[in-house]
Amino acid sequence: MSIFVDSIANKGCYNPFESYGMICVRCGCCSEDEKVRYTSRIALHKRLLQDVLAKSRTAVHDIVRRNFEIDIAWNRERIAEYEAKLKEIDRENAVLKSP
Ligand SMILES: [Zn+2]
Repeated sequence: MSIFVDSIANKGCYNPFESYGMICVRCGCCSEDEKVRYTSRIALHKRLLQDVLAKSRTAVHDIVRRNFEIDIAWNRERIAEYEAKLKEIDRENAVLKSP
């Protein structure tokens, strides 16, 4: 199954990096399916985190470095948040499947 199959096109895309303006082009981050949504968001934040980590290594000025640290923390928090939501979904599914 493609992660894009059940995504809906909508305004206010969660992932402006892969949308046209703010119009979602089925990025997965806006999917109605929670597992697809959270998995896509984790992948997005991991990419953003790698990007900002690479940039932060070249930051010379304190204020620039501080801004990168804020971005790094924000992406790590989002990854932890969506990983926790995925675990919650898996737990709920396990309870539903148990006799
Ligand atoms: Zn989107």
